[in-house]
Amino acid sequence: MSDVRVRFAPSPTGVLHLGGARTALFNYLFARHNRGKFLLRIEDTDKERSTDESTQAIISAMNWMGMHHDEDIVVQTTRIDAHRAALHKLIDNGHVYRCTCRPEERAAEREAALAAGKTFIHRCDCRDGQCRPDAPFVWRFRMPREGETVFDDLVQGYIVTANAEIEDLVIARQDGSPLYNFVVVIDDAFMGITHVIRGKDHLTNTPKQIQIYRALGLPVPQFAHLPLILGLSKRLRSAGVEHYRDQGYLPEGLINYISRLGWSHGDQ
Ligand code: GLU
Repeated sequence: MSDVRVRFAPSPTGVLHLGGARTALFNYLFARHNRGKFLLRIEDTDKERSTDESTQAIISAMNWMGMHHDEDIVVQTTRIDAHRAALHKLIDNGHVYRCTCRPEERAAEREAALAAGKTFIHRCDCRDGQCRPDAPFVWRFRMPREGETVFDDLVQGYIVTANAEIEDLVIARQDGSPLYNFVVVIDDAFMGITHVIRGKDHLTNTPKQIQIYRALGLPVPQFAHLPLILGLSKRLRSAGVEHYRDQGYLPEGLINYISRLGWSHGDQ
């Protein structure tokens, strides 16, 4: 057995789409090839959209495809105490600040940036402690403004991002309930994940997450961002794995299809 530990981390907001199944499959194959562990984490922090039926549908689709996970499933909402503790650590060491800006106050700036084809980067005086007293607030992460965040992606190569281009992202709501880029770091570290293998749509999240790892003093895993296959994403409403099962497709056929998309190995 090796120390390789990877995970598939679906949000249980629908069925397992082929794009998700492909991400799970690459994690599964990497774990089995390296005699490591393939873990499953249910990212259910979006309480309004997450359902138990969806969790069951995802697990049943993975089982049907033969992608059995190791160890106990980690359900993100059961880890709220650990998430809150990490937030308090960041508050205590000055890595987060309260921001009372309302989104509508920035709407014009945001639209102007979009119209100019630029990414809107939130900047405000709350970072210097000049926010409205007693107003509702969110917790923002204090990104470094100088230097670069660099990582060597196993698929995409060196990714260099100027820190000045990274926003002070919101990591938690006022009540301490945490948001994706924050919990993913805490939970990947908790699960001892060595390689984060996921879709390329998460590539721009990675520099933010690396800064959060550093602020929490946690080891940064390796990253591998898989090219996306257009048409397989849940956003495009592609069919779920169960649809193909119910149509009579064999799991081997579906695995063959998704494992061989995006690359080739001669005629084999
Ligand atoms: N829940 C996220 C998603 O479904 C997981 C992202 C990740 O692997 O970090 O996109």
